[in-house]
Amino acid sequence: MAQCQRCGEGIVQPVTGRPRRFCSDRCRRAHHQRAKTLRRQVDRFLDLAAANAEPYSSYWASLAADAQAELSKIT
Ligand SMILES: [Zn+2]
Repeated sequence: MAQCQRCGEGIVQPVTGRPRRFCSDRCRRAHHQRAKTLRRQVDRFLDLAAANAEPYSSYWASLAADAQAELSKIT
């Protein structure tokens, strides 16, 4: 059985139409909200990495990399 991308619940797929990725609208919305937040964080952290000198630059760059990694895991 397919699993919800957010909570891991089993999903009963509809017989016709697009396969579902989420068990509920609640999970679908929460997932998109999280992805949006992460995308914003990546941009913000990269800006901060560019705007700051070391060692802060590396610090922000590593936060950007973390957010990017989580984003690519969930999208
Ligand atoms: Zn779910």
